[in-house]
This record gives sequence, C-alpha cells and structure tokens, in this order.
Amino acid sequence: MKLAIVVPCYNEEEVLRETTARLSAVLDRLRSARKVEEAVLLYVDDGSKDRTWELIAAFAATCPYVEGLKLAHNVGHQQALWAGLEWAAARADAAVSIDADLQDDVEVIPQMVDRYLEGTDVVFGVRRERKTDTFFKRQTALSFYRLMKGLGGNVVYNHADFRLMSRRALQALMAFPERNLFLRGMVASLGFATAVVRYDRKERFAGESKYPLGKMISFALDGITSFSVRPLRYITYLGLLFIVVSLAAIVYGLWSFAKGNAMPGWTSLLVSLWFIGGAILLACGIIGEYVGKIYKEVKRRPRYFIEQDTSRNVSRTSFLSAEAKK
Ligand code: UDP
Ligand code: MG
Repeated sequence: MKLAIVVPCYNEEEVLRETTARLSAVLDRLRSARKVEEAVLLYVDDGSKDRTWELIAAFAATCPYVEGLKLAHNVGHQQALWAGLEWAAARADAAVSIDADLQDDVEVIPQMVDRYLEGTDVVFGVRRERKTDTFFKRQTALSFYRLMKGLGGNVVYNHADFRLMSRRALQALMAFPERNLFLRGMVASLGFATAVVRYDRKERFAGESKYPLGKMISFALDGITSFSVRPLRYITYLGLLFIVVSLAAIVYGLWSFAKGNAMPGWTSLLVSLWFIGGAILLACGIIGEYVGKIYKEVKRRPRYFIEQDTSRNVSRTSFLSAEAKK
C-alpha cells in the first residue's frame, strides 16, 4: 500500500527536524515490515511566518519521504489539513493526519496501519489521559465534548485530528462541499467501519501552542454551529419560557392589585427589562452565528491556494506516479 502522513505546520521551525526524524523512522519500519510499499511525509505549511517553509523545502530535497505544500496564506489548521488530505486522496491508499508538535504518539501509527490492513476505513487515535494538559484545558475540552454530544453532534471522545483514513474515506470526505470545517465531526459521520487506537498524549516537543484560548473558543463554537442546529431550537424554548414567566408576572400583578397592595417599585421592572434585553441579544447572536455560516457557505470561496508543491518538482521521483505529477 501507499501511505501518506499529512502534517499541517504553522510556525513549527523548532519541531520539524525531530518530527521528520521520528516519522521517517516509523515509515522505515513499516516498509521493512512490508506493510507499506511506498510512503510519503507531506508537510503543509499553513502560511508560516518563520523558517518553516525553508526547512520543509530542504527536507524535501534531502529526505526520501518528505514532500511539502506551501499555502499562500494562513488558512487555519482545519483548512490546511484539508489541503493535505486532498493531496493524499489523489495519490495514497491511506493517509494518517498528525500534528507537527509530536504530542500524539507516532508509535501507534503501525497499529493504525494494521487496522487499515484488516479492512477498517477510519482509525481514530484516542488519548488515554490528559495528564500533560493543564487543568483548564482538560476541563474546557471535557465540557466541549459533553456539550457537543448533548447537542447531537458526532464526536469521538478525546479524539483530535490524529487518525488514519482509507482512500475511500478520504474521497468521501472530499465530497463534503462545506467551507466551515470541523473535520473530526465530519469524519465521524462518514459511516465507514471505524476502529480506535489509544495512546498517551505528550507535551509539545518544542515551541508553544498555535491554538491560544481565543482560537480554541472560536474552534469550539464553529464545531457546534457546523454540526447542530439545536441552539436555534433552544432559543425558541427560551422565548416560550419567558412568555410563560411574564404571564405569571401579570397574574401576580393583578392579584396583588386586587388585594390593594401598592405595586413594588421599579426594581423588578428594571431587572426584567435588562434580562429580557440580554436574552434577545443572545438569541440574535446565536441566529447571527448561523446566518454568518450560511453567508460563508454560499460564497463558495476556495479553501486555500497552493503556492508551492515540492512533489511537482520534476527532478524528483518518489512516491508519485508520472501521472500524478502532471
Ligand atoms: N496549525 C496550523 N495552522 C494554524 C494553527 C495551527 O496548521 O493556524 C497546526 C500546528 O502547526 C500543529 C497543529 O495545527 O501542527 C496543532 O496545533 P497546536 O499543536 O499548536 O495545537 P494544540 O495541540 O495546542 O491544541
Ligand atoms: Mg499540539
């Protein structure tokens, strides 16, 4: 089989050398065990501002497995990964996606390949524990998975974007036209045979997270709103609840008026005014979120632009057939 390993990279100059060494070693072993005949290690440079692309280009020229795609600007982890998967879908029998920072255990890749050879189309890498994550990240991630499940989203608990996909699964994924990508949810909803391999998540090898809190929150919101329309329905329920509450307040008001009590001051009025104002704004916000998504989808903008592709360098013959080079 032909195996591709797809690695999105954004400002990863500190880790690339080690990542290349470790992944190449895994590929070497897979090849000598005759599980894999041809292999490629594809780096997708997501518009890095540091020397990431220089390194990738140098590795592509010297290392037997490495190829590189350079995207014209930073399009984000999910879109960059998509670019790599699209490249692999046209060339490989299966593709493994993994982050550049070596937090995911490269040693379970052979297990993924075994599952693939047994006929599984999608193999999820699932973290056993999150010891190395901060308490905060662990808790926020946990509540995210819960929320997603509760809202009817399709997610594999503690699975990020470390997975193997067969060519069939890759091509099915490529048929998804949407621009708002939440890959782990999309892959889980493909419906092909799946398996799970477990590993311990490590510390980032070097450098710092390219997912600061802001990006994380926006990713979580994207995930929910691309997979569930339930928040819209909850707004309706909330609206109904408010109507019931206000009816009760009217009844109470009439009752206390009939008893001759003076109406309580304006405090209650003011409080409810603010509360309802807030609720309406929240509701508008949630609806706006979906309208924004629709806007983005109807524009059908291209997901990314490739600026350079080392595999198109004619002097090199590696993984690619002559046909794919055209
Ligand atoms: N990444 C990317 N584009 C971005 C941000 C991140 O391609 O705009 C890549 C990054 O290089 C890494 C992966 O996505 O390979 C995951 O990022 P990171 O490890 O920083 O996220 P964390 O593990 O902290 O959630
Ligand atoms: Mg990481």
